[in-house]
Amino acid sequence: MATIFTKIIRKEIPADIIYQDDHVTAFRDINPQAPVHVLIVPNKEIPTVNDIDVQDEELVGKMFTAAKKIAATEGVAENGYRLLINCNRDGGQEVFHLHMHLFAGRPLGPMILRR
Ligand code: 5GP
Repeated sequence: MATIFTKIIRKEIPADIIYQDDHVTAFRDINPQAPVHVLIVPNKEIPTVNDIDVQDEELVGKMFTAAKKIAATEGVAENGYRLLINCNRDGGQEVFHLHMHLFAGRPLGPMILRR
């Protein structure tokens, strides 16, 4: 089912798209949690990590390649960054179109699981 991210990918609604190719689109999060907060989204509609098929393995790899490129162009590759994917309710997933968060721009501290 089409989500708001599909509309962003198709440019039907505005977003700050910083990278797009035939497989992946990346845009700035509307509610950033760090100085750099980018969402890396496959153009294909895959709802959650649970829905990734074997034939999607190359596509998932392209999400990482895009993350690496974005980290370089955002100037954060050297200092570092965090990649995060939420899955379903307990994972805190809000938008059911697979996406990887890229956080950077300050020391992110230890991974904290908030109650
Ligand atoms: P999730 O919790 O599903 O892993 O993350 C969803 C993310 O999408 C949130 O960080 C939220 O701020 C972001 N988001 C939700 N709607 C929009 C939107 O319309 N545009 C943009 N750029 N980000 C959005």
